[in-house]
Amino acid sequence: MSRFVYADNAATTPVSREVIEEMLPCLEACYGNPSSLHSKGREAKDVLDNSRERVARVLGCDSSEIYFTSGGTESDNWAIRGAAMRMKAKGRTHIVTSQIEHHAVLHTCDALEREGFTVTRIGVDADGVINLDELSDAVNEKTALVAIMYANNEVGTVQPIEKVCEIAHAKGALVFTDAVQAVGNLRIDLSTLPVDMLSLSGHKIHAPKGIGALFVRRGVSISNLIEGGGQERRRRGGTENVAYAVGLAKALEVAEEKLSEMTRVEKMRDRLIDELTKIPYSKLNGHRTKRLPGNANIGFEFIEGESMLLWLDISGICASTGSACSSASLDPSHVLLAMGVPHERAHGSLRLTISHDTTDEDIDYIIETLPPIVEKLRNMSPLWEEIVKKDKATI
Ligand code: PLP
Repeated sequence: MSRFVYADNAATTPVSREVIEEMLPCLEACYGNPSSLHSKGREAKDVLDNSRERVARVLGCDSSEIYFTSGGTESDNWAIRGAAMRMKAKGRTHIVTSQIEHHAVLHTCDALEREGFTVTRIGVDADGVINLDELSDAVNEKTALVAIMYANNEVGTVQPIEKVCEIAHAKGALVFTDAVQAVGNLRIDLSTLPVDMLSLSGHKIHAPKGIGALFVRRGVSISNLIEGGGQERRRRGGTENVAYAVGLAKALEVAEEKLSEMTRVEKMRDRLIDELTKIPYSKLNGHRTKRLPGNANIGFEFIEGESMLLWLDISGICASTGSACSSASLDPSHVLLAMGVPHERAHGSLRLTISHDTTDEDIDYIIETLPPIVEKLRNMSPLWEEIVKKDKATI
């Protein structure tokens, strides 16, 4: 049996038919600049405003709290830098984040540290859940911002964001959550979730690359990241990408409709986890239950993850070793290392991220294809030979 299985939805997703169908007429006809005063401009502005309202409705906030951006990286940079700059004026020059954030967050914090802010990077437990005691100890009257992701992009662990808000707000700090992996996969209601800022990205939820959004709660003041014309209520310069804003709105609506079908995805994920962890010397990375519905991240000892990826690719399966952004580097994942995963297993970790498009047959195919690949690669490893010898000696 040979087939094509796309199991790298955390890296990116295909643009869905529904999204394309809603974007196409807009790309063709709605070409006006939303800032133009003539009819074509007004038409584009109406479509843009309507998309903002649709995004806000799905997220449970007001449309005045949504700003369109170019994606998750920009939203993350803007939220952190924008909040840091405003809070500095109030004498708050400390930022708290976690060791397992996406590089868009980690590197923005690194840059602010070089500019004079102090940064505390709190640790996580073996399942990748942040340590709330460490967070409580870290946050103080100097803390400007607490930036903790909603769900991790590599291991899928979901963080206790309500508790993070409680701790941070008690000391007057703002809370930003990178929800790029969570939005569309988990129900997020900003009318009850008390974060101050939240980022999301279109290409993780079947909209195109190059569109995202930042939620900034009414009353929260952050400085601009991109200066330009007066777009996005003077907060983010650049002629608005109207067709992509429509695509993002549609993708969010479709994702919301499909949330009730997430148990099917969870069942497929659990089957992957249960079957693949039957392979000797393998272990699930991340929390067993508090994890994204489509994420199965498993570490196989005595194997290089990259070799596994190549063999899977030859068999028609697209997967990843962790973050797509670091896949060009051979360093073990900073997330797995922060969780205390030993180097041997961190190097042999495989992330399979499935979606509503995945079928039971796709899961069967992965379950059937991966074990012989693991065996083949282990048989080439001198370390594995030692283990087999030792095992035989103890029988
Ligand atoms: N944050 C997280 C958790 C992500 O997974 C990603 C993308 O991999 C980003 C931020 C960056 O988003 P974008 O690719 O839209 O810039």
